Formats: sequence, C-alpha cells, structure tokens
Amino acid sequence: MLRCFVMPELPEVETVRRGLAKTIVGKTIAGFTCDTKKMMNRPLSFYQKTLKGLKVLALDRRAKMIIIRLSKEWNILVHLKMTGQLVYCGDHQSVVGGHPIKEGFEKDPNRFTHATFTFTDKSHLFFNDVRKFGWLRLFRGDELIKVLDHDLGPEPLEENYTLELFQNALKRRPNNRIKQFLMDNKNVVGIGNIYSDEICYFARVRPDRRVKALKESEIKLLFKGIKHILAEAIKYEGTSISDYVNAMGEAGAYTKKLRVYGRYDEKCFKCGGVVKRLKIGGRTSSFCPRCQK
Ligand SMILES: [Zn+2]
Repeated sequence: MLRCFVMPELPEVETVRRGLAKTIVGKTIAGFTCDTKKMMNRPLSFYQKTLKGLKVLALDRRAKMIIIRLSKEWNILVHLKMTGQLVYCGDHQSVVGGHPIKEGFEKDPNRFTHATFTFTDKSHLFFNDVRKFGWLRLFRGDELIKVLDHDLGPEPLEENYTLELFQNALKRRPNNRIKQFLMDNKNVVGIGNIYSDEICYFARVRPDRRVKALKESEIKLLFKGIKHILAEAIKYEGTSISDYVNAMGEAGAYTKKLRVYGRYDEKCFKCGGVVKRLKIGGRTSSFCPRCQK
C-alpha cells in the first residue's frame, strides 16, 4: 500500500489538543531539549532558561496549531505539519497525538524525537517528527496575538463565525473554485483536502463551482456543512488517513464516516452512482456528479 502523508486538519488537531489537555495541564516544566534548530524561533539556551519552572496552564488551538499556555505569559505554539507527533509519557500512560511512527515507535524517545519537555514529576512530552517540518515556537502573550492573527481567517466553529462573515468572504473571492476557497486559511481556517470534499458533498455543490455562481440556498448549505462536518469529525476524533491517530493512539473513527473523500470509482452512498475525481488547484477532489451540481 502506498503510504502518503496528509496534513492534519482542524478536527485532528483539536483531537490531539483535547487528549493532551487531560495529561499536561497543571504540570511544571523542569527541563527542555531540542536537537533541531529550525524547529525553534529562539536559541535553545533561551528556551531552557525561560521554560524552567513554568507551569502549563491550558491548551488551546488556533487553525491547525496547538497553543501550550504557560505561566508568566509564555506560550509554545506547536505545528505538527505533515509528520509531527506529540507523545506524553507518564508513569502509567502514554498518550500519542498526531502521526504515529511505525519504525522504532515502540519506545519513546526514539530516533525521531527532536524535542523533549521534562516535567517536575519526571513525566515527559516528546515531539517526534520523521520529516522535521513541524515546529515549536516560543512567544510571549503579546507576540502570540500578532502571530495568530497574521493572515489567518476566522475559526469556523466559533459562535461568532456567522453566515454573514462567510458571505462577505465569498464576495471577496468571486473567481475561486469553492474547494479552493474553503481550503484557503485566509477565508476560514482549518479546512483541508478531506473536509472541503465532505463539505461540498454535504451541500450538494460540485467542488469546482465558481464562488460567484453559487446560489443563496447553496451558500447557506455550505455554511451549514462547514459547522456540521467539522463538529461531527471532532466528535469521532478525526480521520485516520495514512495512519494518523488521535490523542489516545487510536485511529480516528471518522475514517468510517467519510462520505466522499477518497471514494472515487466507488458507489455514492446516496444515489448509487459512481464517485468521480478531478484536480482542483493541484489537489485531487472526489465528488458525486449526480448528487452535486
Ligand atoms: Zn450521489
């Protein structure tokens, strides 16, 4: 079987966040190491001096990034990118979030461990990454606000993400294909290849439709689909494609719920017709030509 990596989307990152929140909140950092310079935005010695003695207050998420909120207004911003993984190892438990690494995965730390937080109770949080595209950046609160708002659109699951906001963003991108629009972080964050296909199927709209050609009723259904599909995927702890796992090291159950993503040449669940695929902006998109107009 071909092994390909996909970028985790909002539901997968949210699942990792929830799992880790149960384990590391309240712990105090005793030490930190990292062997990969490009994963950090400041020198290692600065990380070590700053982090020592800080307490983990909360875990948040913005787009596809996890924010580890620390005492004294410091924050670690984590991006798992294509192959990143956060693994918590305590006395009796090991919690994994992100992409599992098969080779040498039995033990943590392993040869893919590039950063380690050690807590005062001797438990650890490991950052493993086969390809080393992921990162852990250290920011003060005021810096973090700037970083998080820079070029990032609204969070789709927040209450203040309204139909009106969605409509206004659509007006700014009339010539986009709807799939492209949904996948652009500037319009709305956290939606990638998987969930853009699922949202279009939910709304019965072809993914290659131009934004300006969408009817009012279709726009309403797309908006409803964004909220519904993402919330549903979080409920099922995300989608496991190429062995992505949730924070407990289990495969995300949403894989079985996917209605159209990756199902090209298979039968549509709704109409029994054949699911087709096409390329949009270099990405493969699956859709049902009978159900989606
Ligand atoms: Zn169909």
